[in-house]
Amino acid sequence: MQSASFFNTDIQFLKGVGPKRAGALNLLGIHTYHDLLHFYPRRYLDRTKMKSIGALIEGETATVVGEIRQIRLDGNQWKNPRLIVSLFDKSGRVDLVWFQGAKYIMKKFKEGDALAAWGKVGRFGSLFQITHPEIDILRGKREPDEEEDEAVSDYDQFNTGKIIPLYPSSEEFKKVGFTPRSFRKIVSNFLELALPLVEENFTKSLLEQYHLMPFSKALAAIHQPQSTSELAEAKLRLKWNELFFLQLFFALRNVSYHREKHSFACENIAHFTNELHKALPFELTNAQKRVIKEIRADMKTGMQMNRLIQGDVGSGKTIVAAFAMAIALDNHLQCAFMAPTEILATQHYLTLRRILEPLGVSISLLIGKQKKSTREEILYNLQSGATQIAVGTHALLEDGVKFSSLGLVIIDEQHRFGVLQRKALQDKSNSGKSPHILLMTATPIPRTLTMTVFGDLDTSIINELPKDRKPILTKLVSESQRARVYQTLRDEIAAGRQAYLVYPLVDESEKIDLAAAIKEYDSLKDTLFAGIPVGLIHGQLSPAEKDEVMQAFRSGMIKILFGTTVIEVGVDVSNATVMVIEHAERFGLSQLHQLRGRIGRGHAQSYCYLVYSQKLTNEARERLKAMEDTSDGFKISEIDAKLRGAGNIMGTEQSGALSLLRMTDLNADGELLQEARESAFKLIQRDPELLLPENARIKSYFQNAFKTSFSLINIG
Ligand code: ADP
Ligand code: MG
Repeated sequence: MQSASFFNTDIQFLKGVGPKRAGALNLLGIHTYHDLLHFYPRRYLDRTKMKSIGALIEGETATVVGEIRQIRLDGNQWKNPRLIVSLFDKSGRVDLVWFQGAKYIMKKFKEGDALAAWGKVGRFGSLFQITHPEIDILRGKREPDEEEDEAVSDYDQFNTGKIIPLYPSSEEFKKVGFTPRSFRKIVSNFLELALPLVEENFTKSLLEQYHLMPFSKALAAIHQPQSTSELAEAKLRLKWNELFFLQLFFALRNVSYHREKHSFACENIAHFTNELHKALPFELTNAQKRVIKEIRADMKTGMQMNRLIQGDVGSGKTIVAAFAMAIALDNHLQCAFMAPTEILATQHYLTLRRILEPLGVSISLLIGKQKKSTREEILYNLQSGATQIAVGTHALLEDGVKFSSLGLVIIDEQHRFGVLQRKALQDKSNSGKSPHILLMTATPIPRTLTMTVFGDLDTSIINELPKDRKPILTKLVSESQRARVYQTLRDEIAAGRQAYLVYPLVDESEKIDLAAAIKEYDSLKDTLFAGIPVGLIHGQLSPAEKDEVMQAFRSGMIKILFGTTVIEVGVDVSNATVMVIEHAERFGLSQLHQLRGRIGRGHAQSYCYLVYSQKLTNEARERLKAMEDTSDGFKISEIDAKLRGAGNIMGTEQSGALSLLRMTDLNADGELLQEARESAFKLIQRDPELLLPENARIKSYFQNAFKTSFSLINIG
């Protein structure tokens, strides 16, 4: 295909670019013609959307365009001067103010420059001002290499009603040696060449059904919109492009699991499953029953299961995993169960032994730093098949770990692992068949994000807590109220309960924070909590030490566990009913939710106190308020995604697919995503290998343009 090779051309060969400027464009992520075509403007200046300065209202966020009449530094010249730039249009004056970097920023401006400024409008006396606005200079002095007629300024164009695309901020451009204008020039020359070669990549029926603009027209309009309505249509079409092809990718993968990956047909339900059922000390929730049925149906087929279980903290995922293992055991297969921390792996090991050993199952634990002889024995028994279940950390992935018939891989707290680790574990099967895969996550993520990041997986949701649970009472308290909090804590201990006291140590290598936590522990244990058995756990302890502390807490010997975030995931001690989180403002929302999930795991009332020690920013207050208001993990993750952006609540390992979505806003475009997904999956259902002539364009576009992009989301 001729146009494919054109779009794969290295950007340095574009007229006006060359090797040096290509280096600069690479920094912006532009390597090929394709990349440039899809390097969309960041914002647009549109006169119809602009406020005239005289009509500004205090408190609103607005874009204004005007001319710089005065630039001055104010305040202490040497230490911390303030920069004030006065911008005028026909209707009035607004001052742009910078408190930081004044002298540096000042160099960018000249009196007489036209400037677009965007930000929140404030007031200083009778004058409007915008503090730290985002800015674009529309008319600097002419570049040395510009011809006279190119120097028609954006400002003039803007005044004649054109919509002006703004690419990266002048700041970013400066770093790479472009001016906004020289970049726009390159783009517009490029579009003349490129647009005629852009082929339609959707079917006619897709375009008609969703009233979509042709692809080339959308690309033209996104770079050089003629009107706001055209721009809106272009955005819609390009969002569809992103979402549809991503979902097509997932649809193809999903089909390949089901059609091609041969796995074990686990048809038998016998001793282990039946006995496990009989031995349960509680009744399964309906959600648990439903998910176990879904797993059973997957494992029966002989095609590989690839299922993600999302369940809120405390919803009872472990027992669901135990059923999946029992099914594997009933079919003479081994299981590997991987957890992200030693504490959690050890806990799962103990739980599984408690419920499965009486049924005659042999289980072993593999973590780092085990005695050599112990380890060798474990490995031997796994390879011979004498051990049926291996529970462990990353240690399971090491080369020496071999199975005789691995049929099921379970990964708990899956978001802590990367794709490659999943694949490494899956490859441990030496039978030529792929083991079934069950992923579990207690970090519920919004549905839109699930469809984007785990779009190829079948998902199950446990959306129900065991019946005996009471909602946790959560309270936001300031440091000054700490004494009252400690009183409640002591009351609960007196009533036979246990408690967690958590200190922020987001990164276990932060020595200063750790020292602070240890100091608190040392002073409290002999004063306020004198006479109460307390323990301390953190990441710097050896596995054996951690184990000892956790064992003592689990058995009830320790009443108050002081700890860092090492206790964040998975720890399950149902007698613990109080959690005090110190410096709660320093934790992210999802992390707080995980931590809080350590209590409220039994039938007693539980209490969570979020103690803050600084004046709260608005964002922090909103975050902590959300914790008070809801304990629904899905709601919390939606709020988190809004506050921090979807990419930030996923690990970098899993954000590959997100980086493909430049136009789409997952918070706003959920419906579109759903439609695109349905269309893509339907298409693949009808034509799994895209062989029908009507799908030829979709296929060739998918294969060409998305080849490089999709290497970002190698899902193993
Ligand atoms: P998570 O989903 O957070 O991993 P766990 O699997 O650790 O939750 O289960 C939390 C606690 O709830 C455990 O102590 C477990 O024994 C208990 N549990 C699980 N299912 C039920 C149920 N259906 N009824 C009562 N308690 C249950
Ligand atoms: Mg768990």
